[in-house]
Amino acid sequence: MIQIVDLVKTYGKGADSLVALNHISLTLPDKGLVFILGKSGCGKSTLLNMLGGLDDITAGEIIYDGLSISKLSEIELNNYRNNYIGIIYQNFNLFESDTVYENIYIAGKKKDKQILGEKIDGLLKDLTLDDKKHTQVKNLSGGQKQRVAIARALVKDSKVILADEPTGNLDSKNTKMIFDILQEAAKDRLVIVVSHDIKSAETYADRIIYLSDGTILDDVTRNKDFEETGNYVLEVPADCDLTEEKLEELNKGLEQDKIELRKNQSKFYPTNTEDIKPEQTADVKKGIKNISTPLRVSFKFLGSTYVSFIMSIFLISVIIALLAFSNTLMMFDESDAIKVLNEKYDCKAYVLTKAYSYYDDPENVTKANIYEIDDKDIETFKKNGYKGNAYPVYNMSIVNGYLDDYKTPMKEQYNNFYITGGIGVAVVDKEYLERTYGELEILAGSLYDLENNDKIIITDYLADSLIMNCKLALGTEYISDDPNDPYQKIVNTIHHARFKVGAVIKTNYKEKYAELIDLFNQLFQDPQHEDEIRKQINNNSLVNNFDMDVNTILAYGYSINPNYKEAILDRPDDYHMVAVESYVVNDKADEFYAQGAAMKFYTKMDSGDLQKGEMCMALSTYNALFGKAVKADKVGFEEEEIILKFHKYNEKVGADAFLSMPLKIVDVYNNAGDGNQCGRLSYEDYRLLKDAYVFPYQLLFDDPYQCYALNNSAKSLYYYSYLSVYSPVFTVCSIIEVFSSIFKFLFIALIAVAAIVLLMHHLRVIKKSRYLIGVYKSMGYQSYFFTGVAILDSLYLNIGIFGFSLLFSYLTTTFINRLLTGSFAKFFNEPLITSMKLIGFSFVDVAIYVGIVFAVSVGTFLASIIAIRRLKPNNILHKAVE
Ligand code: ADP
Ligand code: MG
Repeated sequence: MIQIVDLVKTYGKGADSLVALNHISLTLPDKGLVFILGKSGCGKSTLLNMLGGLDDITAGEIIYDGLSISKLSEIELNNYRNNYIGIIYQNFNLFESDTVYENIYIAGKKKDKQILGEKIDGLLKDLTLDDKKHTQVKNLSGGQKQRVAIARALVKDSKVILADEPTGNLDSKNTKMIFDILQEAAKDRLVIVVSHDIKSAETYADRIIYLSDGTILDDVTRNKDFEETGNYVLEVPADCDLTEEKLEELNKGLEQDKIELRKNQSKFYPTNTEDIKPEQTADVKKGIKNISTPLRVSFKFLGSTYVSFIMSIFLISVIIALLAFSNTLMMFDESDAIKVLNEKYDCKAYVLTKAYSYYDDPENVTKANIYEIDDKDIETFKKNGYKGNAYPVYNMSIVNGYLDDYKTPMKEQYNNFYITGGIGVAVVDKEYLERTYGELEILAGSLYDLENNDKIIITDYLADSLIMNCKLALGTEYISDDPNDPYQKIVNTIHHARFKVGAVIKTNYKEKYAELIDLFNQLFQDPQHEDEIRKQINNNSLVNNFDMDVNTILAYGYSINPNYKEAILDRPDDYHMVAVESYVVNDKADEFYAQGAAMKFYTKMDSGDLQKGEMCMALSTYNALFGKAVKADKVGFEEEEIILKFHKYNEKVGADAFLSMPLKIVDVYNNAGDGNQCGRLSYEDYRLLKDAYVFPYQLLFDDPYQCYALNNSAKSLYYYSYLSVYSPVFTVCSIIEVFSSIFKFLFIALIAVAAIVLLMHHLRVIKKSRYLIGVYKSMGYQSYFFTGVAILDSLYLNIGIFGFSLLFSYLTTTFINRLLTGSFAKFFNEPLITSMKLIGFSFVDVAIYVGIVFAVSVGTFLASIIAIRRLKPNNILHKAVE
């Protein structure tokens, strides 16, 4: 029994609100066929929806078997629909691409599948649909579809069937069939039919309720006593005004027994509901479990949006591949790229030289003069992330070389295998030497007391260079006269102002570079084929290794005395070529500035026979200074006085000189260049000079794997590297870095795009599935059912995305890496770049992104489902119909 008490339904709010049902009260029995009649828009469907719990009640109450449905919770309301209500729509609301059987099956009770099957078969037979069981609904006629809808409403034995204009889309033949079925069904349940078909109502209805503008106009019940007897029925209203003729005619008919006169008797009389009483109480605690599983429905959802599904998978996979790609760019680790190079060249150290350009321009530091290292520099390198040791290298030129030589790239540098100039003296510890050369093998001298004096350790390569250069210069074994002990004399006799050798240590250079040594030997033996042999040398695979070794370890002298500078300054008996460069400041000057390299000064008597305060000058410098034109044979030479001013390397010309002294020019050298001035100073002046010009100018970093980071902070500190093998790799790294910062923006943009794609897809799914959800909800499916469906659908999406992302990401990263390294290698002519990993495939990255996408998609899906949960089925279906 249903009691409707003072029911009001208003759509919208405020001025725009519309009263669809206006204080309606009704009582409906448990059985019978009730028609609700009225014009379109009078509120019929609204009333039906209220009864079905498909929409909110504005005011009043609907009480079903003692339960007020407006007081039910969301879940109870679904159970109410599920347990008691079957709905039939004008437009059927069937799943068109499912079969007849499937459409009925989803509304069935969860019990034995076979019992349900039999029940469906029985229903199909009753509705003469048995031959259509496995036909897709879309292939049925309207009448057949409506019969399927009826079967779906009947299959779970609903106590109430609500039919909203069930024959509105059908012809008269089908209309009759449907009403016959509904009439049959109404024998043991309440069937409420909304219609504006008065004729059918009068034919089939047990009761008719007339609605107008949301109020009940009339409510009548069929008069069961009323009988139609046959041929002549004449209904005469009670207040009928009969004429003579008419009366006569009537009497005639009656005489012949052809007319039955019935007094004031009607097919319908006003309904009296006083004796309808509730027999039982409705139970909405539990629902009859419906048969469709989230798994089945998830496929249905998928099917309704498969284009979007595939497109989204594709798009998001591409985006994830790009994300992974840009991530490897962002995470690009230069040290990884440099590792390849360092391993190939077996790098032991990385060297940076401090130097200023003539313009103090960091971009041009490579053109510069060497410059004194500030103690703070090492701190700064460490602050910028360098984690190894940094050892200072003093500008103590070893052998007969020139500091300028390091500027030339290696391939042109080694005219001979043995270099003419050592690079300097690195102040290290014994551990560094052991890390670099392994356990130290002493070939001459000893390490004894080297921590406390000014003696240095040199490599066998440097010692051999010394011997070889003397041999080349003098044509004799100048340094070593004992071929069995070639280094002993170096240790014994080389007490050069710039270095004293305490020990010669063994390296493996002879074995390692045997091939190169051989080629260089050929160069001497076969000077006619020099070009050809040099080509071979330059193409030899060991050349770069050799360059690296010479410039980072072999050509250094090592002091293990931490106070190395004090030790050499304290030497009393020097003669020394102070490395200063001469500047001619003006053409009539009595002043002459010195700042740079190659000026010799002595404290002791030298073969030049100079006295204290006297100097010789290069002819060209002399002429330039004094505006003279002295010839090579010194014709026209006169002694001149100048004031020589010394500046420290790091002070510009023009700043105050730290040492300024008058000198008499007593001779000129006839040599081509300038820079060979020499003179004799007092010991005190000499020491001042030495203090100013002996300083560390390089840093030896013992972890070459950090060279890229070092190189980056080097620029701002006016350091540069002359290790030419690094430069293409550094360039590649900085190109990648530029790209990586561009990709940071792309990364964010891509994430935004992915989120949009995802959102669009879910909106599309929701939009497409609204109808499905509406139909399922009207059958009483609970919201958590759709949550399950949503999660399953997200899962399918993400499985697809995961697979494709992996594939795309793998393909793009490997392909692009090969492309990049290949073209860089070609461009920089450095084949090693091909083995660098500029960008890489990362399974973890892809997995993380897919994880994020999964979370986002479940999130957005659930959010939409929650939104749908608030929607009443009526609203969904109402809109779906539109
Ligand atoms: P009927 O079924 O008798 O043709 P309805 O019950 O569908 O009439 O509608 C009654 C009135 O309420 C109509 O004016 C209709 O436009 C309005 N109406 C029905 N459903 C809604 C809705 N979901 N939102 C707003 N107005 C509605
Ligand atoms: Mg309607």
